[in-house]
Amino acid sequence: DLDYQHPVCVACDIAGPGRAMSCARGQADDWFESDGQITKRPIRAMTLSALAPVPFEHLWDIGGGSGSIGIEWLLCHPSLRASTVEPRPERAARIAENAARLGVDHLRVVTGIAPDALAGLDRPDVVFIGGGLCDDLLHWIEENLASGTRLVANAVTLESEAVLSGAHGRLGGDLMRVAVSRSHPLGAARGWKASYPIVQWSVTL
Ligand code: SAH
Repeated sequence: DLDYQHPVCVACDIAGPGRAMSCARGQADDWFESDGQITKRPIRAMTLSALAPVPFEHLWDIGGGSGSIGIEWLLCHPSLRASTVEPRPERAARIAENAARLGVDHLRVVTGIAPDALAGLDRPDVVFIGGGLCDDLLHWIEENLASGTRLVANAVTLESEAVLSGAHGRLGGDLMRVAVSRSHPLGAARGWKASYPIVQWSVTL
């Protein structure tokens, strides 16, 4: 019997007065204040789909950035739980502000570095890695988390992509590469402006 209020931004400098949030995953980027480190809407929608929240599950959002993944996870259902780990204090503070502004009062924000900061958290059902991806972190996860835990990791750099390629070779799962381009003025006409391709690995431990 959970009391759910759909988030409507009442007097929000970012979204404007009375703007209602969509029911779909992959909210507009401007719902979240950020310094540019944010998983953009199309990739965020894909990521939430891969995380596939089921009521009462607990998410670890590693590399919180703006908090957009953890916050959207919590917006999927009021029974969901989420903890986010972000080493930069100004970003951790912004995550808490973004959550509060969108009416999310139960995102646990930990200022710290993964994997060190993970040991003190309640065990997750699902883990998202949006920052800090390296072999050490994956080995910590493999050694410390229960089998059946779902893991989704996004990589943008060649270095983190190589980590995912190795992990996929070792553990299987689903490896996918997505490249989004948007129309952009090109002289008097338009061209496709490409974002960095994202490699996403999803696996059940
Ligand atoms: N998914 C986020 C964006 C992530 S950007 C969003 O939608 O807003 C990657 C973040 O990972 C950065 O904020 C960076 O500070 C953080 N990070 C880098 N190394 C980390 C580590 N070892 N543990 C936790 N976070 C880390």
